[in-house]
Amino acid sequence: MVTSPELPRSAEALLADGTVVTIRALRAADHDAVAELHSRRMSADNQRLRFFGTSSRAAELTADRLSAPPRADFVALGAFAPGSGQLLGVVEAQIDPDDPDRAELAIAVADDWHQHGVGTLLIEHLVHAARARGVRVLVADALADNHAMHKVFHDLGLETRRHWANAEVRIEAVLDETSNDYLDAVEARGSRADLASLRPLLRPHSVALVGVSRRPGTVGHSLLLKIRRGRFTGSLWPVNPHADQIEGVPCYPALDALPSTPDLAVLAVPANQIGAVAEDCGQRGVRALVVLTAGLTRTQAARLMRACRRHSMRLLGPNCLGLATTAPGISLDAEFGRSAPKPGTAGVAVQSGGVGIALMEQLDSLGIGVSDFVSLGDKYDVSGNDLLQWWEHDGLTRLALLHLESFGNPRAFSRTARRVARTMPILTVDAGRSVAGRRGAASHTAAAATPTVTRQALFTQAGITATRSIAELVETAALLESQPLPGTTGTVAVISNAGGIGVLAADACTDNGLSVPELPAPLTMRLAELLPDGSATANPVDATAAPVETLIAAVDALAESGAVEAVLLCLAPTVLGSAESTEETLAPLLALPGARTRPVAVVLLDQREPVRFLDCADGSRIPAYADAQSAARALAHALQRSRWLAQPPSPERETPGCRTTVAAALVEQYLRTHPDGGWLEPPLLTQLLDCYGLPLVTSICCSGEDATVQAARVLARSGENGEVVLKAHWPGQVHKSDLGAVRVVPAPEEQVRAVHREFVERFGERLDGVLVQARQAEGTELLAGVVQDAVFGPLVVFGAGGTTADLLDDRIARLAPLTESDLHAMLTSLRTTPLLFGYRGRPLADLAAIEDVLARLGRMATDLPQLAEVDLNPLICGKDGVACVDARVRLEPRHTPDPYLRRLRRLPDAPGEPA
Ligand code: ADP
Ligand code: MG
Repeated sequence: MVTSPELPRSAEALLADGTVVTIRALRAADHDAVAELHSRRMSADNQRLRFFGTSSRAAELTADRLSAPPRADFVALGAFAPGSGQLLGVVEAQIDPDDPDRAELAIAVADDWHQHGVGTLLIEHLVHAARARGVRVLVADALADNHAMHKVFHDLGLETRRHWANAEVRIEAVLDETSNDYLDAVEARGSRADLASLRPLLRPHSVALVGVSRRPGTVGHSLLLKIRRGRFTGSLWPVNPHADQIEGVPCYPALDALPSTPDLAVLAVPANQIGAVAEDCGQRGVRALVVLTAGLTRTQAARLMRACRRHSMRLLGPNCLGLATTAPGISLDAEFGRSAPKPGTAGVAVQSGGVGIALMEQLDSLGIGVSDFVSLGDKYDVSGNDLLQWWEHDGLTRLALLHLESFGNPRAFSRTARRVARTMPILTVDAGRSVAGRRGAASHTAAAATPTVTRQALFTQAGITATRSIAELVETAALLESQPLPGTTGTVAVISNAGGIGVLAADACTDNGLSVPELPAPLTMRLAELLPDGSATANPVDATAAPVETLIAAVDALAESGAVEAVLLCLAPTVLGSAESTEETLAPLLALPGARTRPVAVVLLDQREPVRFLDCADGSRIPAYADAQSAARALAHALQRSRWLAQPPSPERETPGCRTTVAAALVEQYLRTHPDGGWLEPPLLTQLLDCYGLPLVTSICCSGEDATVQAARVLARSGENGEVVLKAHWPGQVHKSDLGAVRVVPAPEEQVRAVHREFVERFGERLDGVLVQARQAEGTELLAGVVQDAVFGPLVVFGAGGTTADLLDDRIARLAPLTESDLHAMLTSLRTTPLLFGYRGRPLADLAAIEDVLARLGRMATDLPQLAEVDLNPLICGKDGVACVDARVRLEPRHTPDPYLRRLRRLPDAPGEPA
């Protein structure tokens, strides 16, 4: 067990109703508050439930215990109210001296704070602290009629066991780190609390606008006009001490002069006033702030955040361009776009306001309305993740559009996105920033892998549709918003009124990973009946100069045939018959119902807009593109989404027997002596990989010739053909075989001595020792590793390995931790993969063992944020198991918060935290 006395630092988190509370370790100064909590602030009955009887001394003794100096085997946490700092509840855990896997838990919550989720939140934080101390089972004794306690444990989502003894019950909760139930329960609670706290921001009935100048053209003034123009249905209260009214809207001199507490306050005051104004808002009872002001100093930012946390206010911005919501009965347009967003089903959240406004204009001209438009700005608090959760439940949003440049908590984001993407498409612009520079220094295979592994692949994993530009985003949104999804095979029928453009469209489909298959005979016969003589009924179908009505009949025949999953109709203007304009030609198309069971997209070669909607008689819409490539790309995105949806939601792969606590201690120990981190040397490296059950072959590191001979004699027994492998070793080496530092040696002593001497001669001073390994049987050489992505967190990389790994460049990466379907995708998507599945008479590789290695790497990377890189290359895969003969591990000082611990972001000036 680790005896680290370091208690969790204070964290802020949301209660079920969205109130922010502070959770922190109790200290001496809390003594009286703890005593009071257990006496005056708990009814006699609650005291009985807590202490199993009444005792005047119990409260005092509890206070002594909980406020005592920190000990390694005891955790005591308190939840404190915002603003007043009043203690709301406490939880304690005493680790069993005879069995450090177990800790006994007790909890108390003030009477007037029951039913708010204080107890649950405290236990979640305790679970986190107890886990870090190596505790596996939490034990709580309760009276049989302590219903609140039973409920808290039941709802927690942990596996619990109950043992009844008369009027008491002993509850045991198992802290299994990989339990999906627990993570799901924590996430669901977090999501509920989040939604409650976001309501005043996104559905406000009254808005105060602070910092409105009388001068037109200023930020506050413009926003006032915009809100008024948008016909906000609630109350709008500009605050300005020097004006009675602005633009006819009555002003108030200060926040406390307002008729009542506004739900939302929008602040456009100078940076040096932000802190004070936010504090005023908090004291007035405001629950949400939008801060437009940019350029806050660290101190100003810290004051702003403190005010928000103290008064449970959610914060949008700073440095944002506001927000708009078209929700029925609200209609608030508090942003700077040229026109007001039209009501609709797309939720839009952008980090950069400029991009947001550009995107809104495109959506507007296309005719896609929005539910909410949110400019996130510097994201001190409200993030893309919050919005996804909101849209998941708002009953309006059916399409989420995100433009994010950074991810505060990528793992939580990826988990939320995976869930939300099941109910609606999530589209994003992949900002495509270069990852090459970040790890240019590390010259080895797994790290080199990342640049080739696009962020696109990572988005794919979470079911996010990642586009390369705003234009592509809008084009794809048009298809997803108006058309059903295609099936999963990716087949498309192309039909045109001019053969040449049909061929180009078919090429565009193929370029984008779709297939344009030959059509079955009954369908071609049907097409031949419909279309004029001289038409080609193969795919692409060339309908020659058929009138549009006929083309539509053919589209319907194709769409309903079941032979393909999407139809692309391409129209060239030059052969549109007698019609004066495309519009006229299209009239028959629009008169027909547009809704079909399979997606249809139109390509109009003379269209000026890259994409627009054709409005059909039945109210449905068909997207029309100016370019076949755009249409094909949108269809390809729809196909990917359809394929992603077809995979059942997949649980994380379990990895039993990992010794997380020991591993964490080893890492900590290493970083204490190597504060800048570094590559691990053999003994520690072996120990660390062993904690996660990773199959490193036995390597004996020898410092002299005799020791090498001795080790070779022992290992030769298990070596293939009785052979061993000798490797010259020194710290920081890469590509040993290039230097002649890897030699296969038959067992006889003279040969071992000869190679040893040769190493000494060749490498001289550099030589630090000789590694001896048993020679492994031949197998497929793969590589598996971990890299940390600055944006997304840890990735597991898998690919073709051995000394030719870089040459082959056949790799795939997935965000850790890995689910069953991630593992499946990794094992089946490489070009090398057929080698594992019995290619040309090879034996079938031990696929289960490979999956297990990948899952364990994922687990290790998730547990140990300091794990900067792992490179297992090669992993020799045979038909019975895998063996790694060359491993490199680099550690780096780093701390990432537990992604599943419910807590809000830290204040910008929190000590020890990067800005
Ligand atoms: P490096 O990658 O630094 O060049 P490795 O230790 O990976 O050095 O060895 C290079 C190659 O030698 C491996 O890819 C593998 O083909 C082979 N090899 C190394 N160790 C063994 C072993 N114990 N058994 C069988 N083959 C080995
Ligand atoms: Mg190697």
